[in-house]
Amino acid sequence: MSFRAPASDHQFLLEQILNFDQISATEKFAEADADVMAAILSEAGKMCDEVLAPLQRNGDLHPAHLENGVLRTSPGFGEGYKAIATGGWIGMSAAPEFGGMGLPMALTTAVNEMMAGACLALQLAPLMSQGQIEALEHHASDALKQLYLPKLISGEWAGTMNLTEPQAGSDVGALSSRAEPNGDGTYAVSGQKIYISWGDNDFTENVCHLVLARLPDGVAGTKGISLFLVPKYLPDENGNPGKANDLSVVSLEHKMGLHGSPTCVMQYDGATGWLVGKEHGGMAAMFTMMNNARLGVGGQGIGAAEGAYQHALAYALERKQGRTPVADGSGTIVDHADVRRMLMEMKADVFAARAIMLACASAIDMGSATGEAEWKSRAAFLTPISKAFGTETGIRVAEQGVQVHGGMGFIEETGAAQFYRDVRVTAIYEGTNGIQAMDLVGRKMMDGGEMANRLIDEIEEQAERARPTHPNMAEAVWQACETLRETTDWLVEAEMQDRFAGAVPYLMAFARVLGGHYHLAAALADRGGAREKLARFYIKRMLPQHAGYLTHAREGAAGAFALTVEELAS
Ligand SMILES: Cc1cc2nc3c(=O)[nH]c(=O)nc-3n(C[C@H](O)[C@H](O)[C@H](O)COP(=O)(O)OP(=O)(O)OC[C@H]3O[C@@H](n4cnc5c(N)ncnc54)[C@H](O)[C@@H]3O)c2cc1C
Repeated sequence: MSFRAPASDHQFLLEQILNFDQISATEKFAEADADVMAAILSEAGKMCDEVLAPLQRNGDLHPAHLENGVLRTSPGFGEGYKAIATGGWIGMSAAPEFGGMGLPMALTTAVNEMMAGACLALQLAPLMSQGQIEALEHHASDALKQLYLPKLISGEWAGTMNLTEPQAGSDVGALSSRAEPNGDGTYAVSGQKIYISWGDNDFTENVCHLVLARLPDGVAGTKGISLFLVPKYLPDENGNPGKANDLSVVSLEHKMGLHGSPTCVMQYDGATGWLVGKEHGGMAAMFTMMNNARLGVGGQGIGAAEGAYQHALAYALERKQGRTPVADGSGTIVDHADVRRMLMEMKADVFAARAIMLACASAIDMGSATGEAEWKSRAAFLTPISKAFGTETGIRVAEQGVQVHGGMGFIEETGAAQFYRDVRVTAIYEGTNGIQAMDLVGRKMMDGGEMANRLIDEIEEQAERARPTHPNMAEAVWQACETLRETTDWLVEAEMQDRFAGAVPYLMAFARVLGGHYHLAAALADRGGAREKLARFYIKRMLPQHAGYLTHAREGAAGAFALTVEELAS
């Protein structure tokens, strides 16, 4: 089945719902006008459809593997990567002085999502590079920037991020990798990192690892961690890949999905590295990369959801089974009410998650273009929601995609299961969704819930404006806001343990309400059109889920701990 990149949906959202003009009106993004946006989405979409989507099955059927210690990628992935690199899609938002295009993150995020929908496993490679580029732009020395950024932006070299160790997953502060000063400004980095995505490949000249490690005087915990740039090949005096560094890929993980993306166990044995940012300031530097990647991973979920939806729809339009009550219907399962329900839910959720993700990316752009704290807080607040809801949507929609296929969904040949298996990890990596939700109700509510309440105000204002034309939908969204506000007020007063127990349901409720908000905006923009009908479906049937989530969120921790560990095991 062929993939059709959803460029027109992105364009609609950016132009008509999220006020892309506001971004173009800033000095920083003055060149990114509506025409540029349309051209970029259309060009990227073409590459996704024609070059990347045909590779998706290769990754699953012919996984990346080690051949006598040399990493071999899935057939066609090298060519696919080159198409991404030469198209300039890696450095879309990177600084022009190093060869980037300086375009808004809103556009990069849209393109990333479309690439993920076409071929998730391959798209993870440029996503890692983009995060590294941003981290180096913000924290590296001028010398490192001059040497590495042009190569990473052009895609000649690729980037990775190395946080995780066997005993240090969510608890990054428990890491034990070490770095010793060599006395010449470089450091000797040693330790083992696990689960490193695209830890190597056979299509770039060099692979640059950003590695978290502890200096000899680094204190325990996150405060004692520093960040190092450790290339596979040490650049020679001309900046070309020279001598091999003291690092290796020990093995590849055997995974449930995403087989086209090599997930590496990396060994560093006194490998030469360069400090990025300040000594012991590694977490701050790494957070730049992680925030970028969090939004990107949310987009991976949505891309996979889009792919799974298209796949399921195509099957539903062909598969004949039973008589359907729709007189002028196609005679295929698409005319069964329950199949329609699934397809509508899938489509409505993809729209909601995509709108939230692009709203987050737009806030990042406005924050970087204006320097205004309000935009920055909005971006920070929306990042965990975009990541967790985007990836939950990916999983839910891909799971429904399997269901639409019936038995054929469970049979690998159709490819429906691949979407489900591939996307599952997105809720785990880049900070599990539980950690995202704790970030939302913890750090992101240190302002006493101000940002949350400002967003709720905004949603209510639009609902008020929609009352004359869409009274029922407007009322439903407005009421949902009130419940969300009550729970927000409850949460900011609650003990941290109680907040954490309700964090995931609260995040999901917030996303549901934001989804209602953007669907309502779409209804206002497309009166009598398909988007208005989809909005009605979402607001009547899916938005009400917020109430269940919020009830759960307000229950506190005691109930979650009601059973003793022994009782859990009994
Ligand atoms: C395919 C794949 C690719 C990956 N790519 C990379 C990569 O490129 N670079 C990299 O550095 N890492 C990578 N990772 C690692 C990934 O980021 C971690 O798996 C993830 O952060 C979770 O850590 P963990 O696996 O140790 O789980 P744990 O931290 O052991 O978590 C287990 C469970 O406990 C929960 N939990 C843990 N701590 C808390 C807490 N304080 N409060 C509440 N709940 C908690 C978690 O939410 C989870 O449900 C990858 C992982 C996979 C599977």
